[in-house]
Amino acid sequence: MANSPTLSAAERKLVDSVPTGLFINGEWRPASDGGTLAVTDPSTGGTLAEIAAATVEDGAAALEAAAAAQHDWGRTAPRERGEILRRAFEAVTSRAEDFALLNTLEMGKTLAESRHETAYGAEFLRWFSEEAVRADGRFTTAPDGRNRIMVAKRPVGPALLITPWNFPLAMATRKIGPAIAAGCTVILKPAAQTPLTALLFTEILAEAGLPRGVVNVIPTLHAGQVTGPLISDPRLRKLSFTGSTQVGQALIRQAADQVLRISMELGGNAPLLVFDDADLDLAVEGALQAKFRNNGEACTAANRILVQDGVAEEFIGRFTAAVSKYTIARGTDPNADIGPLVDQATLDKVKGLVDGALEDGATLAVGGHALDGAGYFFEPTVLTKVPAGARILQEEIFGPVAPIVTFSTESEAVRLANNTGFGLVAYAFTRDLNRGLRLAEEIESGMLGLNAGVVSNPAAPFGGVKLSGIGREGGAEGIEEYLETKYVGIADPYMTAAS
Ligand code: NAP
Repeated sequence: MANSPTLSAAERKLVDSVPTGLFINGEWRPASDGGTLAVTDPSTGGTLAEIAAATVEDGAAALEAAAAAQHDWGRTAPRERGEILRRAFEAVTSRAEDFALLNTLEMGKTLAESRHETAYGAEFLRWFSEEAVRADGRFTTAPDGRNRIMVAKRPVGPALLITPWNFPLAMATRKIGPAIAAGCTVILKPAAQTPLTALLFTEILAEAGLPRGVVNVIPTLHAGQVTGPLISDPRLRKLSFTGSTQVGQALIRQAADQVLRISMELGGNAPLLVFDDADLDLAVEGALQAKFRNNGEACTAANRILVQDGVAEEFIGRFTAAVSKYTIARGTDPNADIGPLVDQATLDKVKGLVDGALEDGATLAVGGHALDGAGYFFEPTVLTKVPAGARILQEEIFGPVAPIVTFSTESEAVRLANNTGFGLVAYAFTRDLNRGLRLAEEIESGMLGLNAGVVSNPAAPFGGVKLSGIGREGGAEGIEEYLETKYVGIADPYMTAAS
């Protein structure tokens, strides 16, 4: 495996070209106390860059700018907002290779994965450039035939957007796209592990013509301390968060004080069901995608693979054979299928879950170990005969580990699938259309992949139920999260006689 501790000249040039300041009120500036945070290359543990780390005062300045810009920004023509997003889409697309490389360097995923994310992330900008001009209302007559009812959509107001490290571009565009389209100003707080992609994107947004104060970006080392005062400030009107359920729950509690509009995209524990009647080629391919995409560090990752008895042996054999051929290497290596995990804590968690499952009696089919040496690499792993009570079936793994469990009947499969507090996504592989439709009704999740290992699509509403969250991103629903409904009651226009 390749595990270079130094950057190539091209990699260094790209990293050095990224702005390192905070972006507040249309200007790049250092942190108020001059503090910085180090961005790490997860393939080596070495430092990629030092960037400004926002203080509580910087957070306050960002809210000040967003609040000051809100009135005028909310009144710009929807077409103008759409055109800015469209220009940002073109610019990200034209710099797709830079975005892909930067993403790989700071997050660890393979370049192929980063290219997919760049295209996916850019697509939210194009989608919401089109949605910007489609926020509609209605004008009707009340049932008694007298009063008139006018319903209009208005921007919610300044929004705080908090994003995770696993999709550094797409999680930002999935929030900024609809917020801008709706006419909201924003403060983006990217994850401390992966701020460089967000900073490059910010540069593009500024060049696309956003007025000052509309987008403010504040990476920080003290997320809770910096965002807490913003969430309790009555000028903030919206909080959109993607991250762990635990942090999401704490933010929901904080948001209660000002009764903020919230969107919460939280953790998952996706079941992937393979039935006896499945197209096994499709099922193996889909399961590999659902499990190992993004190094397994996806909220949509298949966390539990449930296979019906009749095809279990063949499925496990084919799935394990494919996994044992995977190459684990730095994400920039063209042969890499799996890159390093994002940091030591993630590696330790994955290792602990695998060791725990083996102690509980699971069988190791392939992988199972962290790699020696620099970087946070964990072998792609398949576990079979995982006992029902194992922690790995209850917790989000967030790594390249596939626990496989067998089942006998459809009702048992549904019971196992729903045996979790999470409800983001599920996957099912079956040739029986009626079974697929039954599963769509019976499985408690916001999304279902039917004979598909990936569901994410900017044109579709992404989101979960239960502990996986509140609200939807993407699709026609995505912009609604940033709009308020304003009703104007109009008196009967025939109250007074026409003159
Ligand atoms: P995390 O620890 O919850 O962090 C997510 C973001 O929240 C980061 O920007 C983090 O900042 C910030 N944060 C942490 N503590 C905070 C606090 N007390 N107040 C305000 N902000 C705070 O999650 P993660 O480890 O980065 O991401 C992995 C999780 O995200 C997984 O559970 C995954 O399922 C979930 N996820 C969900 C979706 C979805 O759409 N449902 C998509 C992707 C990921 P710092 O980085 O500065 O700590």
